[in-house]
Amino acid sequence: MLHVVRYPVTTLNEPSELISAFDESLKKLAESMHETMIRENGIGLAAPQIGKNIRLIIVKVGDEGNDYRAYVNPEIVFSSDKTVAIEEGCLSLPGVFGYVQRASKIRFTYRDLDGKKQSGKARGMEAIVLQHEIDHINGSLIINRTFQVTQGMERLALWQKKQAQ
Ligand SMILES: [Zn+2]
Repeated sequence: MLHVVRYPVTTLNEPSELISAFDESLKKLAESMHETMIRENGIGLAAPQIGKNIRLIIVKVGDEGNDYRAYVNPEIVFSSDKTVAIEEGCLSLPGVFGYVQRASKIRFTYRDLDGKKQSGKARGMEAIVLQHEIDHINGSLIINRTFQVTQGMERLALWQKKQAQ
């Protein structure tokens, strides 16, 4: 089981490296991340959140939580002008929730776990989760965006004070 890295650990704010080795260990890592995501009740997880600054993210598929999709080196190639905001949380910021404005539709490219080039499009909740996780591999958290805090304000202020010291 993997340990989830929490703010204010500074590696969460560092951009992650491109992945070039599509081997068995990458597949194993995606599997372990999936187990961790289920345990933590997440709907997405990025590798920097388990302490590995590489460009791998996973997103929950379906309602059962027993399936997921892995995206390696994902890149957003189109973002709609139309935006949407929902109350977002983050496993690396437990107890903190707030609104983040995001594109309502995106198109993206990525590689699958075998290294094959893929492309996709997403809207609604899926688009939001993908943008949230891609932010992680770019070293950005919800609190680094225009973030309207709805829960956990005191907690966040305490962490930020700690980080400043
Ligand atoms: Zn997150």
